[in-house]
Order: sequence, then C-alpha cells, then structure tokens
Amino acid sequence: MQTNFTLAQLADPAIETVNGILRSCVHCGFCTATCPTYVLLGDELDSPRGRIYQIKSFLEEDRPPTAEEVKHIDRCLSCLSCMTTCPASVHYMHLVDHGRAHIEETYKRPLLDRLTRAFIALLLPRPGLFRWMLIAGSLARPFRALMPQRLRTMLNLLPPKLPAPGWADRAAVFRAEHGPAGKRIAMLAGCAQQVLGPQVNEATVRLLNRLGVEVVVARPAGCCGALVHHMGRTEASHAQAKAMIDAWIAEVDGAGLDAIVVNASGCGTTVKDYGHMFRDDPAWAEKAARISGLARDITEFLAGLDTSDVRTPETVAVTYHSACSMQHGQQIKDPPLVLLRNAGFAVREPAEGHLCCGSAGTYNMLQAELAGRLKARKIATLKATAPDVIATGNIGCTMQLAGDAGVPVVHTVELLDWAAGGPKPAAMN
Ligand code: SF4
Ligand code: SF4
Repeated sequence: MQTNFTLAQLADPAIETVNGILRSCVHCGFCTATCPTYVLLGDELDSPRGRIYQIKSFLEEDRPPTAEEVKHIDRCLSCLSCMTTCPASVHYMHLVDHGRAHIEETYKRPLLDRLTRAFIALLLPRPGLFRWMLIAGSLARPFRALMPQRLRTMLNLLPPKLPAPGWADRAAVFRAEHGPAGKRIAMLAGCAQQVLGPQVNEATVRLLNRLGVEVVVARPAGCCGALVHHMGRTEASHAQAKAMIDAWIAEVDGAGLDAIVVNASGCGTTVKDYGHMFRDDPAWAEKAARISGLARDITEFLAGLDTSDVRTPETVAVTYHSACSMQHGQQIKDPPLVLLRNAGFAVREPAEGHLCCGSAGTYNMLQAELAGRLKARKIATLKATAPDVIATGNIGCTMQLAGDAGVPVVHTVELLDWAAGGPKPAAMN
C-alpha cells in the first residue's frame, strides 16, 4: 500500500512503525472473510482492510478521526483473526493499537461514552474496587429494568454468584511439592480474573506445585495493562505495565525465573508485547524485552513439563473454545488440545473456531449488540458438539459463555489440575 507521510511525520518512531505496517498491506482482502464484524455486517468499513484505510487516512492527514471512523474502529474486537489470515504478515494489532491511542488523544467522545470508558478503566484493573462494585451491582440487579441501557448491559454481565474473596491476600511464594521439573516461575495474578475466577489461579498453583514448579506471585500483583491498552489509554497502560515489569525484574535478578506464566490469554498477548510497547523508551526497552521473552501461556509452559501422570478420573467430553488472544494473538493452537487429550479427555472442537465469542476485553460492555450476536453464534457451534464441559484459556470468554452454554465453562488448567489429583472444578459439581 502506498503511503504519504511527510518526512517530519516519519521522524516520529511510532509513525515510522505505522508506515512500515501500512506499506506491507497489499490490499488483497483475504482478511475480510475471517473478520467477525465483516462476517456480521458485510461492510468494507467494518473489515480489517477498511479499518487499515481509515487509520491511514487520519494518521497521514494528522487530524482527529471523524465520528464515522471512530464508529468503525470501535467495532473492531482486536480479535486478530485478520493477522492469522493475512498472507503478507501485516501487523494489524500494532496498527490498531496506535490508531486507538490517536483516537483517545485527539477525538472528543460524547459525554456518556467518556463516562462509561472512564468507569471501566478505573474499575476493572483494580480487584478490590472491582469486587465492591460487583457487590453493589448484585444488589442493584433486581432494579435493572429501571436503569439506562448501558448500565443494564453491564449488570447483565455480572455472574449470578460472586466467588469468595481472598486471592490477593494469599502468600507470595508457593513451594513445589516434589517432582522432576525443579523450575521456578512467576504467575501473573491478574485483575478481573482474581475476582471473577479465583479458582483459576488456585488450580494453576496446585498443578504447577505438583509438577515440581515453585510459583511466585510478584508484588504488587496488579493488572498487566491490557484492558486500558486496548482502550487507547497509553499512559495508564504503560504505568500498569511498568509496575509489573519492575516486580518481575526484581525476581529475575533475585532468585531467578524460568518463565512468567500467564493463565489469561488476553493478558498473555499484552505481556508478550511489552518489548514492542517500550521499544523507544531507553529506560525500559531492555527490561520490557526480557519480560516479554520470559512470558508463556500456562499451556505453553505445561507442554514443556512431564505430565504423563496427569490422567482424568472420569470420561468427560470437553469442547475446547480457543480464545482469540490464544489462537490469533499468541498463535497457540496445539498445546491446550494435546494436554487435554493426553490427560484422557475426549476433546472436541467447534465449527467456526476462528471466530470471536464477542467477549474481547471490554467489548461486550461497549458494543453489546454485536457482542450478543457473536455470542449467540458461538454458543450454537459449541452446543452442536454436545460437550459435557467447555474449556477455554481466557476469563473473558468464560464469563461471556457461561450463562448460556448449557454446560459448565471452565479454564483448561482447572481440568488438568483435576486430572492431576486436584478437586473437580466447582462449576462441574
Ligand atoms: S489480508 Fe493482509 S495484505 Fe490483504 S488486505 Fe488484509 S491486511 Fe492487507
Ligand atoms: S481484529 Fe478482528 S474484528 Fe478487528 S479487523 Fe481484525 S478480524 Fe476484524
């Protein structure tokens, strides 16, 4: 694709990067066929290629985007299905991230939008505050019919029952039981997940300890920055990422780490991208790249361990739903399937596995209508496989699917922990 940035614009390293991405696109349009919003809406402006043109336009002209352009960029799920499909390896993720930061800096959204976004950005990355708001939301739920649409959408996403608190107060080091691995890893405790699904961290620690791995939760055990990063809030996301980088570097330089294990694939995609996020910051570039180099999804890390003793105690049909951040963002496809199959589960995969379930971080709160259509489509393909349980590797997908799937939705690691001698996932009881 031809670009027309001026030399002055290209002196900005961020624009130089964007220019390289834009020039790599040969506008073949292969990506449109696998883009969920194009599949639903059939509008070129809601396709990857259409969005690439719109981002190019407002960046080249160095102007605020129009309301129409913002509408189409906002509708993008950042599912990155287009990156898996693209034959020219266009790095759409870095392009849309930059486009979103530009929107955030230059475009004034309507007041209600600004308030909603500020509320989400304040709340979700802070587990303590988030938990209190969930409790308040549960109390308000019976009155949701009286509330504005936006608030109703958020209340509809609340889990029917809030898990008990406590993860944040747990010990920071979990010693290995026994076993051959002898490794030491840091686990990202996460933000929303430690409130909505504390059992995922518990299963991760139990399983790794049983396999001979020491687990450390580096303090402050905060948010990796992914949630606000995808909202274009660069300053906030960089501050959160820097806190995690410093905490992990202290562990790397102290007792040492074999890996940084992440059990929410949306977060894993961002931690693996820290090197890129801080590439032009001399004070952080090297540290960030080291952390990205150590980041592993939990299934990626488990694939390198001896799991031959991990065997399911029951015959269970598991349909594996691959989160977009897992299959497209991190290109992790086989490890979760192989681990589950090797543990004796009867593993099934749904049709249209490449399409997003509509969760996509904060998307189901901000784009409820499209998210609902994608969810209905995903639920239908999952149900068609007649599973006993659905496994996935991202808390956002779990929350999106759990209420309507008709069967329990659990994290892959909960099943593997059960197969290794841990408790049966509570959702399956
Ligand atoms: S598939 Fe790749 S090269 Fe083709 S239009 Fe889409 S982004 Fe551009
Ligand atoms: S990230 Fe997903 S929704 Fe966005 S353009 Fe690419 S395929 Fe479409």
